[in-house]
Amino acid sequence: MKILENEESFMLTIFWSYIKKHPYIYSLATVFALLSSGLAIVPNYLIQRFIDAMVNETLTNQNLGTYLALFLVSIVLIYLVDITWVVLLFSQSYRYQNTLRKQLYQRLLQLRTPFYERFRSGDLMTRMTSDIEFLGDTIGYGFMLIVSNVTWALSIFTIMVVTISWQATVISTLPLVLFAWAVFKLWQKVDVLYEANRDAVATLSNEVLEVVDGVRVMRAYGKKELEQTRFQKRTSEVLEKANHLVLYNGAVGPIAKLFTGLSMALGLMYSGYLISQGQMTIGQLISFQIYLGMLSGSIWGLSDIVLVYQQGNVSFRKVEEILTADDLVEKNGHQPLTGIENITFSDYSFQYPTSDTPTIQKINLDIQQGETLGIVGPTGSGKTTLIRQLLRQYPASSTGNLQINQQEIQHYAISDLEKLIGYVPQEHVLFSKNVAYNIGFGKHHATDEDILDVVASADFTKDVARMPEGLETLIGEKGVSISGGQKQRISIARGLIRQPELLILDDSLSAVDAKTEQAIIENIQAIRKNKTTIIITHRLSAVANAQKVIVMDQGAITEYGTPDALLRQKGWYYQQHLKQQLEDNQHENI
Ligand code: ADP
Repeated sequence: MKILENEESFMLTIFWSYIKKHPYIYSLATVFALLSSGLAIVPNYLIQRFIDAMVNETLTNQNLGTYLALFLVSIVLIYLVDITWVVLLFSQSYRYQNTLRKQLYQRLLQLRTPFYERFRSGDLMTRMTSDIEFLGDTIGYGFMLIVSNVTWALSIFTIMVVTISWQATVISTLPLVLFAWAVFKLWQKVDVLYEANRDAVATLSNEVLEVVDGVRVMRAYGKKELEQTRFQKRTSEVLEKANHLVLYNGAVGPIAKLFTGLSMALGLMYSGYLISQGQMTIGQLISFQIYLGMLSGSIWGLSDIVLVYQQGNVSFRKVEEILTADDLVEKNGHQPLTGIENITFSDYSFQYPTSDTPTIQKINLDIQQGETLGIVGPTGSGKTTLIRQLLRQYPASSTGNLQINQQEIQHYAISDLEKLIGYVPQEHVLFSKNVAYNIGFGKHHATDEDILDVVASADFTKDVARMPEGLETLIGEKGVSISGGQKQRISIARGLIRQPELLILDDSLSAVDAKTEQAIIENIQAIRKNKTTIIITHRLSAVANAQKVIVMDQGAITEYGTPDALLRQKGWYYQQHLKQQLEDNQHENI
């Protein structure tokens, strides 16, 4: 199923194409709905015949039995027919939701960083959950409303005209037509109100996510009360928007009562006149009133479609926005990439889509297979921005060139590139599963041996031994129950298990002590002899054995060379080296 055929597609076209793709289910549901509408008239018709027989004193015991039996059979049949078509429609609606959710999820996996900088998590969650449910409702409940109410209204109207009186039918149904029009007008306004309500709920979801994420920080800074007030403000906004909706929905009930009352009164008056003229029986009068009740029910149902449609329309726009969202990153390249022999930046500058000035400028850098490159420099100097270019998180810049194996990076298939790179970011993402899962995540079908090997390389063996269930120990949501250093080492183990061609450690050892860091770096060097490694770090000891080190400052490379050469240059690297040595000595003396 494809929700969008082209940019101009709109909800009904999409629904119609979906319905056409499942002709049997929707045809069967329609046939059963028609059958149900036809059958719905039978019990009332039997009541009319029964009353007339009583009034005319022609009712016999045998007649009574027949009426009762037919009455019961028709009710059971209506029940069975209704169940069949409602189940058919609703199970199809769930299937639709399921397909749509998978499609949206797939899209979320494809979209890259610039997209996630535009949409907030709470908003995305609302799109993935309630918006999809509303779309499912529109195609399920909405379809049911149309088919059942239209067929019902038409068949009741016809039976009233044919078996009772066309004049009485027309006179008494006029108020119902007015009712449908009034409700239609009222609910045209619901679109804006519904969208405001839905957006308020999305903002609230985001607030909840942030609170759950940051509850410890809030406590630590004594900001609990402030956050509570902010949260209350958000809930009040949701309440206010919901109240507007309720006001509109609430107005429909009294209007319905007014018009159906009018309809019944007109019907009753005209029927009285027809009885006095001998053109209507008592049975017909009672039956006429029951039909009118049924007809107003179906008109009410039809007016409900406007609401379902409006809700569906708002949700459709939200889902469509994701499915057509552009993350501004170039289309996937087609050239396969099986190895990284060299990476070359030539006069390369890059500017974030939201920035006015380039963040990194005129970068000239050459990385050969098997080398270890160290990247150091003050915070905010552009180190992460530089390696983000290799991860294709943003559109490649047109200023200068970035090549892999002498080809522009954007010519390669992104999935190939991703397979070759192991990236350990600053912000560690751990899943609320066990340690083994979190590490094995880096490789398809990782064996216990693979996991134990990288656990040793990440200097995590002793930590695992102390955990209650070793590698099987569950780590809380986002690894809450383990320390920052442990999180970093799990992330490193995950990066190592893939044995990637290119390993990038982005300040990934900041939370471990210098000795542990040294041990991990030595392990990495030993197991990655012919592989390329990029280490971004604040601690210079981590790159002391690198073949090349670059120092970045304000987006440019200011120093470049071997660690020894950089020390001789007596620039930032040298100053930092002295400072860190002093700190280490002070530390040892404490
Ligand atoms: P470093 O890794 O050296 O600490 P970064 O590469 O993270 O530095 O950041 C360099 C500069 O780019 C900073 O001024 C930062 O504010 C800016 N920056 C980082 N990410 C983005 C972004 N997504 N959009 C706009 N500016 C950004």
